[in-house]
Amino acid sequence: MAATRETQALDYDAIVIGAGMSGMYQLYRLRELGMKVRVFEAGTGVGGTWYWNRYPGARFDSESYTYGYSFSKELLEEWDWSEHFAGQPETLRYLNLVADKFDLRRDIQFRSRVASAIYAEDTRSWSVTLADGSQFNARFLVTAIGPLSTPTMPRIEDVDRFGGQSFHTARWPHEPVDYAGKRVAVIGTGATGVQTIQTIAKTVGHLTVFQRTPNWCAPLHNSKIDAEAQKKIKANYPDMFRRCQETFACFIHTPDTRGTFEVSSEEREAFFEKLYAEPGFGIWQGNFRDILIDRKANAVISDFVARKIRQRVKNPKVAEKLIPRNHGFGTRRLPLETFYYEVYNQDNVELVDITETPIERVTPRGIKTSDREYQFDIIIYATGFDAITGSFDRIDFRGVDGVRLKDKWKNGPQTYLGVMVDGFPNMMMLMGPHTALGNIPRSIEYNVDWVTGLIRFARESSLTRVEATATGVMAWTDHVKALGVGLLSNEVNSWMTGYNTNVEGKQTRIVARYSGSAPAYRARCDEVAAKQYDELALA
Ligand SMILES: Cc1cc2nc3c(=O)[nH]c(=O)nc-3n(C[C@H](O)[C@H](O)[C@H](O)COP(=O)(O)OP(=O)(O)OC[C@H]3O[C@@H](n4cnc5c(N)ncnc54)[C@H](O)[C@@H]3O)c2cc1C
Repeated sequence: MAATRETQALDYDAIVIGAGMSGMYQLYRLRELGMKVRVFEAGTGVGGTWYWNRYPGARFDSESYTYGYSFSKELLEEWDWSEHFAGQPETLRYLNLVADKFDLRRDIQFRSRVASAIYAEDTRSWSVTLADGSQFNARFLVTAIGPLSTPTMPRIEDVDRFGGQSFHTARWPHEPVDYAGKRVAVIGTGATGVQTIQTIAKTVGHLTVFQRTPNWCAPLHNSKIDAEAQKKIKANYPDMFRRCQETFACFIHTPDTRGTFEVSSEEREAFFEKLYAEPGFGIWQGNFRDILIDRKANAVISDFVARKIRQRVKNPKVAEKLIPRNHGFGTRRLPLETFYYEVYNQDNVELVDITETPIERVTPRGIKTSDREYQFDIIIYATGFDAITGSFDRIDFRGVDGVRLKDKWKNGPQTYLGVMVDGFPNMMMLMGPHTALGNIPRSIEYNVDWVTGLIRFARESSLTRVEATATGVMAWTDHVKALGVGLLSNEVNSWMTGYNTNVEGKQTRIVARYSGSAPAYRARCDEVAAKQYDELALA
């Protein structure tokens, strides 16, 4: 058997699936090891999230400069972000520059959707089959398929019968869509819906928003970066990235050390006002330390934001509809907005609460609710993603003895450090379940470097098989579950708890995310590497 392994001719040393920020950086790092690497990407270009999500108003909620790659000083010097929270076109330009600068495209095969990945024990390699039937094999398989990359359509009858134009926000066309003066429907009011609504409301003829669950939103307060600020940002990069390494979720914001009720009500109100007036996620990630774990503390901040909504929306009935009742502030991913609530003060904007008048079906002319038929020129589905495990479910991964990953994960993901799974040797996951997300590129860079370290170690030690142990997987999975206990966000249906009404079989909450601190996550992974990966089964 050893002879087969040593003399075999594998197509590649490593295959990476996905050319978003994770796959691009992984390619760069593996090439540094002198490896022959192939990246398969379903899209026609690099950028992942920023390639697909071209909907109007798509932009960062992370500060631009905290989001970009940190690994190349030259790149940091060369690239100027134009806004504190850059829009999608700019981010896509940035990622294309990265691809050019590091000559990444020559190893990326576009228009290549991976359909299956099957482990072969005799050669200790992975055989990857694309949707067109072509096959390639490699010793190592790295998944970089994105936590939010598989869009979901709502389960509404007759969606195909609509005679006008319709788009899912994550499959937005590359050509401009003309919605000026048109009758437009938006279904969905998550982060994407909010960005779309506030942007198209400026030019549409009439806008109808179909809302099932309102989300708590807070102002983004975006602005241009002038020359002076640009200089400061660049000079401050090392300190800023260091801070992102130290904070709980890799943002520049981190929880205040005070508890909500440790200050007077005046101080509390002033603090909330300050956070509400500041750019970015501060009100979510930099608030009192207990707002996401203590129900009473959460109720206080929820009440504050509800008051803001009531102040900003003129029609009290509409305002009440926009205030969430089934979850507290920040327990779902917080959409940041720019005059979102003011949109509902426009005469040409209507909010339809589909819990009151459910959508019955799409018709050739529009949308029929239990109340009436609405006519549209364009329907926009801002219905989000089959998050975290969705892209895994769509690839037929089979490990040792043909065991399917989907079967192994049928009751929720089981992982080792969010990176490996027992029974799936030589396969590593980037931004998979049970890993630290937060300000995601910071986690991507860490994960990629860790995976690269493991592969380097394997190659230098002439190992051809690295696998998580069942004990290691059980311990990490239990640890991740324990960390989630007491978090209000884990008691809410959302993509962060793997709940999706539009995907069959995903109406049970799971613990999909690692919810400890990013520094604690890295400390644990560093410890494993320092002990030469002795927790893994190595051969
Ligand atoms: C609209 C939007 C805004 C966001 N804003 C922020 C933000 O402000 N801050 C933040 O930290 N995060 C944000 N995110 C999260 C964002 O997804 C991550 O920041 C990051 O881009 C993830 O990179 P990735 O490479 O891991 O995944 P992705 O960028 O999703 O890339 C995955 C790639 O894998 C490809 N792929 C998947 N399956 C297959 C297959 N079977 N075969 C071949 N290719 C495949 C996809 O086509 C895609 O190109 C946002 C996400 C969305 C959707």
